[in-house]
Amino acid sequence: MYLRKSRMDTDFEEVSMEETLSRHKKILNDFCKARKLNVVEVLEEVASGESLSARPKMQRLLELVRTGLYAGVVCIDLERLSRGSSMETGYIMQILQTNNCKIITPGKTYDLQNDSDEQFTDMKFMFSRYELKSINTRLVRGRNHSASEGKFMGSVAPYGYRIYKLQGMKGNSLRIEPEEAKIVRMIYDMYGEQGIGYNTIAYQLNQLNIPALNGKWGQTSVVNILNNEVYLGKIRWRREPVKRVIEDGMLTKKRYTNDNYDLYDGMHEPIVTQEMWDNVKAKQKSRGHHSTHVAKELKNPFATILVCENCGAVMKRNVPAKNQKTSAWYRCPTRGCGCKQMKCVDVENAILEGMRDWLAAYKIQIESGKPVNTDQTDTALDAVIGQLAQLQAQQNNLCDYLEKGVYTVEMFTRRNAAIQKDIQKLEETKAELLQKQTEQEAINRTALEIIPTTQSILDNYDILNPAQKNALWKLVLKKATMYRGETKGELRVKLYPNLPR
Ligand SMILES: [Zn+2]
Repeated sequence: MYLRKSRMDTDFEEVSMEETLSRHKKILNDFCKARKLNVVEVLEEVASGESLSARPKMQRLLELVRTGLYAGVVCIDLERLSRGSSMETGYIMQILQTNNCKIITPGKTYDLQNDSDEQFTDMKFMFSRYELKSINTRLVRGRNHSASEGKFMGSVAPYGYRIYKLQGMKGNSLRIEPEEAKIVRMIYDMYGEQGIGYNTIAYQLNQLNIPALNGKWGQTSVVNILNNEVYLGKIRWRREPVKRVIEDGMLTKKRYTNDNYDLYDGMHEPIVTQEMWDNVKAKQKSRGHHSTHVAKELKNPFATILVCENCGAVMKRNVPAKNQKTSAWYRCPTRGCGCKQMKCVDVENAILEGMRDWLAAYKIQIESGKPVNTDQTDTALDAVIGQLAQLQAQQNNLCDYLEKGVYTVEMFTRRNAAIQKDIQKLEETKAELLQKQTEQEAINRTALEIIPTTQSILDNYDILNPAQKNALWKLVLKKATMYRGETKGELRVKLYPNLPR
């Protein structure tokens, strides 16, 4: 059992940390008793920071999990486990997953071997940036070292070069492919000296039937050549080449090009001179071209959940051109749909206001979001199941008696009918209790997950970025619809909170 209270937590009542901890402990103890969970060790901490080094008990927990002897870790909600950097979250998740350790909360049990649960767990870590990274510092350090020696670390040679194995030492370097090197210099000349644009360069190369790395020349391949320091004889080494990012609401692995990569002097020959390089950079600047690609960030906090009330299409977020003096707007993509476009801020504010109202009303409805005690139901259910087992045993005995001739067929039939009737009655009761248990669990999930998450979004809205907002909105909202019948008409927003059935 892992209990943690941090200064970041927002609570319904203003109570001391110790009080919150003991309240959580009571909830969890009752929960474990009802579920007959054998708690081996209780780890409790008031963490001042979010980092692993500031959480000795979490370190202990991971140590225990690594023994592989634990079926699960019980905590009040997922956020107890990690709210730190995404790297640490990923680290913790990885250890739980590889040791087949479930996360058990009163609202839900998360099995990390199960894909959808893993996805949900990922999303639930509210303040992480959702980049799960495998940590293998030794490998990274080794590769860093090779890069700093000027060896080529990639698996595909840049256009103009071929990879070859270094003699007498580990690793690879690059040798110039003369025909391709000519083309590289030509591209630098066309852009840097003659001032020809990316697209035109690509077009002309294709006209000349010059083969590109992947068939045909395009703007991207030209830009890549103009921006790659490898042609200057350098090795660029990025520490974090692959990131897990959210794009249009989907978690995807993506090559992330950041500006902070390391440059080392390579062991290979340059193809272009510093002067040629500088000319290109100066031209790019004067043309207002970015010299590096910036990874596309998710800008739409309602990606995939905001739909048109009229036609059900997912609303598109449009960004104004530089000279347009307006802000981003939502637009229904369906041709001929009567839904008029609407400024994003107005829609966002309407949804925020709506969720605030909903939360206030809902908290009253479920008594300030307090979870219900499921003890009684659980106990009753256990009793019914026990009785059913007894009756079934009796029924088996009847068959024995009949076979051994203790009972006549008539006696058997009468007794059996009586027992069968009892079993039927108990089965009905069992079904009712199961139904009740499901309902209570739904209430608890709402109280322990949906309500606090909504509260957190509203409280921290200003410090969240759009991707984080989106991840959180998707937890608490099944969808939101919007509609505006006339330009400058009234905006109608409908919210569909993600309540358990
Ligand atoms: Zn529409």
